[in-house]
Amino acid sequence: MNPASGFRGLPAVHALADDARLATARERQGRALVVDASRLVLEEARVALRAGRESDPDAADAGDQTDVALLCAAVLRRLSDWLEPRPRVVINATGVILHTNLGRAPVSAVAAEAMRAAAAGYSDLEYDLPSGRRGSRHDLVTPLLCQLSGAPAALVVNNNAGATLLVLSALAQGRGVVVSRGQLVEIGGGYRIPDVMAAGGARLVEVGTTNRTRISDYRAAIDAETGLILRVHTSNYRIVGFTETPSLEALVSLGREQGLPVVDDLGSGSFLDSSAYGLAPEPMVQASVTAGAELVTFSGDKLLGGPQAGIIVGQPEAVARLRRHPLTRALRPGKDVLAGLHATLVHYARGEATREVPVWRMISATQLDLAARAEAWRVRLADRGVAAELRPGQSAVGGGSLPGETLPSTLLAILDAHPDRLAARLRGGQMPVVALVESGAVLLDPRTVLPEQDELLLAALVVAAG
Ligand SMILES: *Cc1c(COP(=O)(O)O)cnc(C)c1O
Repeated sequence: MNPASGFRGLPAVHALADDARLATARERQGRALVVDASRLVLEEARVALRAGRESDPDAADAGDQTDVALLCAAVLRRLSDWLEPRPRVVINATGVILHTNLGRAPVSAVAAEAMRAAAAGYSDLEYDLPSGRRGSRHDLVTPLLCQLSGAPAALVVNNNAGATLLVLSALAQGRGVVVSRGQLVEIGGGYRIPDVMAAGGARLVEVGTTNRTRISDYRAAIDAETGLILRVHTSNYRIVGFTETPSLEALVSLGREQGLPVVDDLGSGSFLDSSAYGLAPEPMVQASVTAGAELVTFSGDKLLGGPQAGIIVGQPEAVARLRRHPLTRALRPGKDVLAGLHATLVHYARGEATREVPVWRMISATQLDLAARAEAWRVRLADRGVAAELRPGQSAVGGGSLPGETLPSTLLAILDAHPDRLAARLRGGQMPVVALVESGAVLLDPRTVLPEQDELLLAALVVAAG
């Protein structure tokens, strides 16, 4: 409700801020913040009042009471908007594992603790403990990345977009970069390969057609100005039907023949084989290294299941050139990210990733487990007067990987005359729950709900549906 509706005179800023109903807020948050919030609320009320008068001159005069209680409530809402933790923790019941808008990969408990510890204290981030001299943050995760990928060198930056930008700037500034027309990807959020190419100062040389590009197309486009050959994984779309694209091996052998490096932007990239879980094969980092790519880039927070990062593995000379480039400093990851990434890589090194990395635990969850969990929710909700039923459904990997690929799941369907309204109430609750609405029901997929969130989810459902 608009706090200004029905007001004639509004209180002064300090009068509102000093209202008895805001005493606790003044005590907890400090008077200065309460004054700032009061000023904004009154400004909004004034604007609303003016708009109301303009559209309906009689209505303004009909309201003759200044409802300070509503203004106080608006001040409290404003304060909590400012001061409550952001981003807010939510429950992802959409069944989309790498939900970009919900923060992509949740990290493992061990990785989260490593991030907390690194953030909360001092660390040997750039300090060599044995010698007491300066060290490099880039050496913290390099040994594990090399061990897992099979590449001799590695470098970590803020995200994969940064990795691509760095690679193009360092290896192809002012030169041509040959890319297939079928791989000119837009990732979302307006990130497009041609634009990043321009930002990196490289010249895009498109070859082939949308559906078919041959090795001869690449060869014909190479000249003295060419800096590198780029392969981009079409991570969020698929071209099917009459298609052809050269293998990475073929590109690498062309590159060797012409003295050009081949860079492979995997997007998601994976250390584990997605086809072992009923999914299409997502390109694996090790395979690109083995095929001879000079550099391979991928995200830390997609299928790897770690914190946001851009990972580059490849040949030592190319990596050394990247490390010397000034953008590397601009794109360097923080200590919390390196700690979380290290802990995530340890899960892979120990062979425990499917158990410990949440993204892989979700991918590998069995239909039996999911159905049992949905049924347990149903029973407990029935006890508390909320009617629901089980329905077969599909989860997705999402986040720009494995487009169109789904995993069979069992969903909890909450039947409601106004499912959109129920979904909105769930989003607006104390612990927001994001769910899908389909065929007259709110659908909750147990696959993406973290096990420790079960109680919170049920409580939120009882409040919203009650
Ligand atoms: C996701 C993706 C990127 C961007 O990665 P971020 O880590 O989000 O910056 C770049 N290229 C491809 C092919 C991708 O799929």
